[in-house]
Amino acid sequence: MSEYGKLYLIPTPIGNLEDITLRAIRILKECDLILAEDTRVTVHLLKHYEIENKLSSFHSFNEHKALERVISELEGGKNIALVSDAGTPGISDPGFLLVRGCVQKGIAVECLPGATALIPALVMSGFPTDSFVFEGFPPVKKGRKTWFEQIAKEERTVVFYESPHRLLKTLEELISSGQEKRNISVARELSKKFEEIVRGTPAEVLHHFNTNILKGEFVIVLDRNTPEKKRSRDED
Ligand code: SAM
Repeated sequence: MSEYGKLYLIPTPIGNLEDITLRAIRILKECDLILAEDTRVTVHLLKHYEIENKLSSFHSFNEHKALERVISELEGGKNIALVSDAGTPGISDPGFLLVRGCVQKGIAVECLPGATALIPALVMSGFPTDSFVFEGFPPVKKGRKTWFEQIAKEERTVVFYESPHRLLKTLEELISSGQEKRNISVARELSKKFEEIVRGTPAEVLHHFNTNILKGEFVIVLDRNTPEKKRSRDED
């Protein structure tokens, strides 16, 4: 039997502190070390759940460097829990490189089911959920135009993240990339006090966020873009 430890990926709340599982709390208490994207954010969560454990930082700036050290600790038998600031580690957050490294070395990995922003945003959009594509964040500069062109051709439901200061620009780019008639749904502040879902065409949603306070975190969902829908747009 392997003497190696295990890497646990622990989802943490994306807003509402109650959105954490009992098992997640137990593992955070029992593991040998917690690795956190930002220890200041995680300390807040640990305090709330009275979890006292060793905490060390593991963020995107030191992920490559820290990899070897973490893998050797796992090989030495330590059980390590990785958390990000919010949601599931590895989803637009550090984690992928470490998981890949563990898989290559035969170290066991377990990701607990739990909070993530993309799934509630997708489900509440009202668009088909049987087949969808998750795109993370659109490129900020290089490749951005091509990204929108590719998305315009995508027939499945599309889910992606966007930062608040690029939301309006993104809605405009959906319009300019020929997706002005594609229905969209923007989920804001999921699980928080001011959670809202705004649905409509990109122009309608743009109007809403131009006239309302533009604050918080956002997930954008684009409706399925079937050939029939594209054809009827072309005929209009
Ligand atoms: N690992 C996280 C997850 O599992 O969803 C994602 C982390 S990514 C760095 C942060 C992005 O997730 C935000 O910019 C936003 O697009 C989305 N997000 C996170 N929390 C959210 C919330 N409460 N409401 C809406 N979007 C959220």
